[in-house]
Amino acid sequence: MIPESLEFCWGIVSEGTPLEGSRLVVDVLPVVVHCAPCGQDATLDGMQSFRCPRCGELCAEIRQGRELEIDSIEIDDGEVKP
Ligand SMILES: [Zn+2]
Repeated sequence: MIPESLEFCWGIVSEGTPLEGSRLVVDVLPVVVHCAPCGQDATLDGMQSFRCPRCGELCAEIRQGRELEIDSIEIDDGEVKP
């Protein structure tokens, strides 16, 4: 699975850098396509088939699932909060 591979590799590439010991958390979003015949967006079960789950039509218009974004970065400054 790709998220597990990324998280594993993060440990290797961050070794010896200021990010050593940090944790990469990957959140996988489902692929959402737009089906023109249905006039609606549909969530796909997987990447094996880009067919609308309602009508079976092929859907090429991806509405979600291509993005690769950094959602947040948390930094612990080491200070103990009262
Ligand atoms: Zn459809």
